[in-house]
Amino acid sequence: MNKNEFKDMWVYIEHSGGKAAPVSLELCCETRKLCDAAGEKLCAVVVGGLPQSEIDRILACGADKLIRVRGTGYEFFSVDAYAELFTRLCRKYRPSAVLVGGTIDGRDFAPRFACRLPTGCTSDATQLVYDPKTGDIEFIEPAVGGKMMAVITVPVMRPQVGTIRPGTFKYAPSGARPCELIEETIDFPVEKIRTKVLSFQPDELDESLNIADAEYIVCVGNGLKGADALGRYRELAALLGGKLGCTRPVFDRGVLPYKLVIGQSGVVVKPKVYIAFGVSGAVNHVTGITDSDVIVAVNRDPEAAIFGYCSYGIVGDMDEVCDAMIAQLKGRA
Ligand SMILES: Cc1cc2nc3c(=O)[nH]c(=O)nc-3n(C[C@H](O)[C@H](O)[C@H](O)COP(=O)(O)OP(=O)(O)OC[C@H]3O[C@@H](n4cnc5c(N)ncnc54)[C@H](O)[C@@H]3O)c2cc1C
Repeated sequence: MNKNEFKDMWVYIEHSGGKAAPVSLELCCETRKLCDAAGEKLCAVVVGGLPQSEIDRILACGADKLIRVRGTGYEFFSVDAYAELFTRLCRKYRPSAVLVGGTIDGRDFAPRFACRLPTGCTSDATQLVYDPKTGDIEFIEPAVGGKMMAVITVPVMRPQVGTIRPGTFKYAPSGARPCELIEETIDFPVEKIRTKVLSFQPDELDESLNIADAEYIVCVGNGLKGADALGRYRELAALLGGKLGCTRPVFDRGVLPYKLVIGQSGVVVKPKVYIAFGVSGAVNHVTGITDSDVIVAVNRDPEAAIFGYCSYGIVGDMDEVCDAMIAQLKGRA
């Protein structure tokens, strides 16, 4: 295979309820940088209808091309239709890379069409780097329980397919540029879809559970005594105008929902201030906080690994320190 025959980096724009998924827009912004480094074009692929206001948000990320696909079989996500569609599109246009948000749907169809082409697919990267020597994208992600960072490439085959975890990159639009619009009509026979949508209930948006873009995060770790002890942390988060997050064991104990888990298997956050209470600093968690501007760690163990990552460290009892912070903030009000 001659890698040079494959051009353009694609980002699949997942959408629902007339809104582009944040991960797709984040990916467009990051892929723009890869395209600049590689001298390639950024192409957004939209399947089905999307309002012009959302198309404008995609264009603002610096897309050079937009492929709009219409046809039967795409009204609801189906792995059959989407895997077939991307197999056909990739064979026709030969992109060098196809990047897909690591959502439930993205993780479902990306490896499938990669396998059909066939090419390689990397899951859950948290960093993307273009290597000018090889022309390959390095997909970087924590491995072996977070003890090492694995650098994965697709050195021989094209396109390079990868799913990227939501919240990994910032939505920082670089500005619209002239964009070529390509219209495609590809019908997938509806009778070949093996799943049937019986009803559709949109996710009720609970803003308190959306922590990816929070500017202040109060994170409680396994040092938390129990659900009863949560009140003061919620209060601190509210006083800061921020949100509550947690480590994985706090979710495993049934104290807080999965959407609040920060780290490798949870959300990647990038707040101005992140305060960790009773968090040990395991790599699987730290992976999700390293883009914070300021990290404050509170732990009673002076040897806790989290102190190796923080801007400010406080050795002490988490509840007592939290109460002291609340008193300070209230004193200022
Ligand atoms: C594949 C994989 C993926 C994972 N993904 C994630 C992920 O996305 N997010 C995540 O968080 N974890 C993840 N984990 C789990 C991760 O490895 C750690 O087990 C977890 O982050 C530890 O959470 P913790 O620091 O809250 O708990 P612990 O390691 O139990 O640490 C609790 C800390 O609290 C301190 N403490 C206790 N009492 C007090 C007190 N009263 N005052 C002050 N400090 C106190 C202790 O000194 C200790 O440092 C993953 C693991 C694997 C294998």
